Amino acid sequence: MAVGALQDGIAAGRLNGPQYAENFSDLHPPLDRHEAIVEADRCYFCFDAPCLNACPTSIDIPMFIREIATGNPLGAAETIFEQNILGGMCARVCPTEQLCEEACVRETAEGKPVRIGLLQRHATDAAMAAEAQFFTREAETGKKIAVVGAGPAGLACAHRLAMHGHDVTIFDTKPKAGGLNEYGIAAYKTPGGFAQAEVDYVTAIGGIVIESGKALGEHFELADLRTNYDAVFLGLGLGGVNALRTEGETAAGVDNAVDFIAELRQAADLSRLPIGRRVVVIGGGMTAIDAAVQAKLLGAEEVTMVYRRGKEQMNASRFEQDLAASKGVNIRHWMAPTRVLTQHGKVIGIELEHTAMVDGKLAGIGDRVVIAADQVFKAIGQTLSTGGEGVTLSGGKILVDDEGRTSMTKVWAGGDCATGGDDLTVTAVAEGRDAAESIHRFLGGM
Ligand SMILES: Cc1cc2nc3c(=O)[nH]c(=O)nc-3n(C[C@H](O)[C@H](O)[C@H](O)COP(=O)(O)OP(=O)(O)OC[C@H]3O[C@@H](n4cnc5c(N)ncnc54)[C@H](O)[C@@H]3O)c2cc1C
Ligand code: SF4
Repeated sequence: MAVGALQDGIAAGRLNGPQYAENFSDLHPPLDRHEAIVEADRCYFCFDAPCLNACPTSIDIPMFIREIATGNPLGAAETIFEQNILGGMCARVCPTEQLCEEACVRETAEGKPVRIGLLQRHATDAAMAAEAQFFTREAETGKKIAVVGAGPAGLACAHRLAMHGHDVTIFDTKPKAGGLNEYGIAAYKTPGGFAQAEVDYVTAIGGIVIESGKALGEHFELADLRTNYDAVFLGLGLGGVNALRTEGETAAGVDNAVDFIAELRQAADLSRLPIGRRVVVIGGGMTAIDAAVQAKLLGAEEVTMVYRRGKEQMNASRFEQDLAASKGVNIRHWMAPTRVLTQHGKVIGIELEHTAMVDGKLAGIGDRVVIAADQVFKAIGQTLSTGGEGVTLSGGKILVDDEGRTSMTKVWAGGDCATGGDDLTVTAVAEGRDAAESIHRFLGGM
């Protein structure tokens, strides 16, 4: 019987011990001091810098790069944290190739942008290692705010409210704070317990209490929060998962990609985490890429991603697609699942129909293929699982205005659960921070 990599079905221990550590090590190792200064020197410190305008949190990028260039990484960190208190995580996970680095004039001129993400990491890591705190609380206001969700949106909102002297209680259904920073982001982007270290760094300002294991809609309702607090911020993320709606979906071996990723992020020993020999991932976004790459890194022999449209329409960035290809993931376009094939209740393959645009609409074109699989991950989008009773929704998200106000007085929302920007960590941080400023004005602050 085959063992290790070639064992059929879903099995743990496909690799040798050291291979796990190697596969899940830091995707972009940090710059040392000398490398950071050399990289910072490449910046032209542009007037009206396009990189700054491309950053959803509007970090003063030329300023912090200049501070690094002059040997002042802590000053650089302060510049970053003023706008983005989760600047350490964003330095690791931002799709910089689509944001600041795409806009960098050195990208336009020579296809080699200043490596802004790595420089940001250099500065923020230095500050966190030195336990340098740059912000203190204003005089206490006596106002109490409830934040629901301890993800990037909730944490950024809580930090800014605490700075303004308000008392914040964050409620989260999960045992650990951090939201998808802790349970979602690919393990090789944020190794070494960074998400929890960042939660500790953010809450060190004081005035923030986190109540874990407390779910809106289960342990309390929105009406309770509106009665007991001066304002409420909803940073719930998207907890639900879309179904395939095909025959065989409930078979053993068909799993949600986000659950697999969360399990992987919490695994104390990756060699004990089972993975299929042949894995198929359905979807074309970041979650699909992360599930596919990490399945491969766990030792799956064949990993195929299938997406119903073309390469250009994929939500995953070009960088993410290239990363998947470089790890050996096979990406197939223009095909949609029609049936999960099973034997004795277990998945043995998936049948797909080729698709095309017909009269401006995506349609199946009849021709079918079967891909053998002993594990299938669904990554076809997440949905709002609870919005809080009574707030108006739009397109499946909580409707907010440009300050993050919902349709209900005293209630704000931001991040993935709310209408607005892209579903990215940095956007969630920006929306949480801006909602906090709006709440502060509502409570009579300037
Ligand atoms: C697999 C995956 C990989 C990703 N990779 C990247 C990446 O590399 N780069 C990037 O920029 N973005 C990435 N994203 C997107 C990014 O993680 C999100 O945009 C971001 O986390 C949104 O922050 P948030 O605070 O709105 O929500 P979340 O991070 O989802 O946090 C929401 C919090 O609310 C809590 N909650 C939910 N419902 C309730 C309730 N009823 N009561 C109490 N608490 C509740 C949850 O437990 C959670 O802690 C990824 C997303 C996924 C799924
Ligand atoms: S666009 Fe590039 S070169 Fe110009 S300030 Fe930003 S990082 Fe520096």
